[in-house]
Amino acid sequence: MTSFQDFGLADPISRALAEENYLTPTPIQAQTIPLALTGRDVVGIAQTGTGKTAAFALPILHRILQNRIKPQPKSCRVLVLSPTRELSGQILESFNAYGRHMRLTSALAIGGVPMGRQVRSVMQGVEVMVATPGRLLDLVQSNGLRLGNVEFLVLDEADRMLDMGFINDIRKIVGKLPIKRQTLFFSATMPKDIAELAEQMLRDPARVAVTPVASTVERIEQRIIQVDHASKPAFLAQLLKQEQVDRALIFTRTKHGADKVVKSLERAGIRADAIHGNKSQNHRERVLAAFRTGEIRTLVATDIAARGIDVDGITHVFNFDLPNIPETYVHRIGRTARAGADGVAISLVAGAEEMAYLRDIEKLIRVTLPREDRRTPGYRDAVPQQQHRAGRPAQPTHSARGADAAPGAKGPRRRRRPGHGAPAANRHEAARHESSRPSQGGKTEGMQGVAFLHRESRPARAKPNQRPQR
Ligand code: AMP
Repeated sequence: MTSFQDFGLADPISRALAEENYLTPTPIQAQTIPLALTGRDVVGIAQTGTGKTAAFALPILHRILQNRIKPQPKSCRVLVLSPTRELSGQILESFNAYGRHMRLTSALAIGGVPMGRQVRSVMQGVEVMVATPGRLLDLVQSNGLRLGNVEFLVLDEADRMLDMGFINDIRKIVGKLPIKRQTLFFSATMPKDIAELAEQMLRDPARVAVTPVASTVERIEQRIIQVDHASKPAFLAQLLKQEQVDRALIFTRTKHGADKVVKSLERAGIRADAIHGNKSQNHRERVLAAFRTGEIRTLVATDIAARGIDVDGITHVFNFDLPNIPETYVHRIGRTARAGADGVAISLVAGAEEMAYLRDIEKLIRVTLPREDRRTPGYRDAVPQQQHRAGRPAQPTHSARGADAAPGAKGPRRRRRPGHGAPAANRHEAARHESSRPSQGGKTEGMQGVAFLHRESRPARAKPNQRPQR
């Protein structure tokens, strides 16, 4: 097995990796890093969650260190293009984390925020620039940035960028870059149009791929239980007691939601703990260690907090809320079925909005999941739907391109809605919705449904590729 030492990365980078607790390279890192270190172009098929950020960031940082030159004013040495503001921010954070011992200079150019600060941040020149395509072009066109000194280009989530209509912007940007550069190109899928784009942008690229997440999905028994909002806590507690659960990871969309779930489980006599952004790093580490050893069998997490959790033996993933980004569902349920094991993923789905999320997920995984309807007959969900709609970001128009990268931006094929994974404002929006849901109020709403559940047998495992939808 490869280790990070085998790559011979420069000392400041190795130290940062040790501090990040990265011990073993992920498969995409093991394949990409040695190739990229030689200066070759690489085209990779890999999803977010596979460790692909480090796969491109580490060799680039190493090569920058090998030839440390001061960046020219208003220019950058490394240009990373990503489809959304959120992803761009995460990529920048990763570069800064891996480059923390090398005094890396970096900047972010994303839509939806005033451009002045971004212009100032690149005035002196930076080593790494992470950007969404529309805003980057704005910056270039307003003479805030020159692209003639770019030595490294990374295209991340190329398929999503095409989905979101960035192809022309990308072509324009690439047209302004020096021909002599190293290009690393990543995409979750490689349909014909993406392969053609890669062909045009890369020189004799090496090809790497990691198993698409969808194939993990096939080994997971997925269950969808339609419930009333108010009965979710009771259902969850029942399921945890009923199922052969060795180790369960429960996802909620919000931090507030995670705390509420822990409390409701404790009331039901189930020991659980939560990790999310409001908890200290210390708490997170302690809880994760207890989860790993089996001292805590039930862990509640938000998606952000769960990034990087690598615990084997998770038998069940519960989606207390469905995520608004379909890929997030795949990443969540992929926490079970690690290392070739099978797993069970159970999603509690309530209300029209979550049903819409479910349909998006089914499109992505190309499976229609069987639904178990446990809603209380006659119960009307009191979630104010209009509020949800009010929080939905507008569709991008050409003139709104400055804000191009809103993660909520609607591409031709994928719908994104506010909630987890959305920018902070939308996450807060989602948190407000969470708290605006009808409270339990000590009533036994939905308990009827729980009793009903006992009488039902488990549905058959969903067959993959039952209904190709795109
Ligand atoms: P990415 O696919 O780049 O978004 O990475 C997913 C998560 O895995 C991030 O939280 C990374 O910090 C984490 N990660 C990436 N590579 C490794 C590694 N070799 N060891 C442990 N964690 C990693």
